[in-house]
Amino acid sequence: MSTKLTCKQAQKMIRAYLDDELNGRDSAAFISHIRNCESCRYELETSFIMDYAVQYLDEDKVDGFDIKGLLDKRIQEGEKRMTTRRVLGILLWAAVIVMALAIIIILVMLLAPDFYSTVIFPISRLLFT
Ligand SMILES: [Zn+2]
Repeated sequence: MSTKLTCKQAQKMIRAYLDDELNGRDSAAFISHIRNCESCRYELETSFIMDYAVQYLDEDKVDGFDIKGLLDKRIQEGEKRMTTRRVLGILLWAAVIVMALAIIIILVMLLAPDFYSTVIFPISRLLFT
């Protein structure tokens, strides 16, 4: 489902990714590119490290700080969020389908009771008991 990015597109998104400004689909595409592309990942790490360096030089906290570990954690959290979103999407579709089926069954019950009792009822008994 995710669209493939070119390196040029991915590198343009680095800034937005670090600033947390990508929407769900873009950040999914971005992370999957980063996972498979050494040079873009290197670009991302560099920008990320620069960000932190600037931030932490100000605060004298650079010593022993695991910047790369932080980036890995951030990427993993992004992936986890994507999985959650995907599962929620599937559950939502399942709910919509179940509701649509229920509505169809109710309509058939109301509009064609004979069809309901000879076809749908036996099938739904098979399915739901
Ligand atoms: Zn790339």
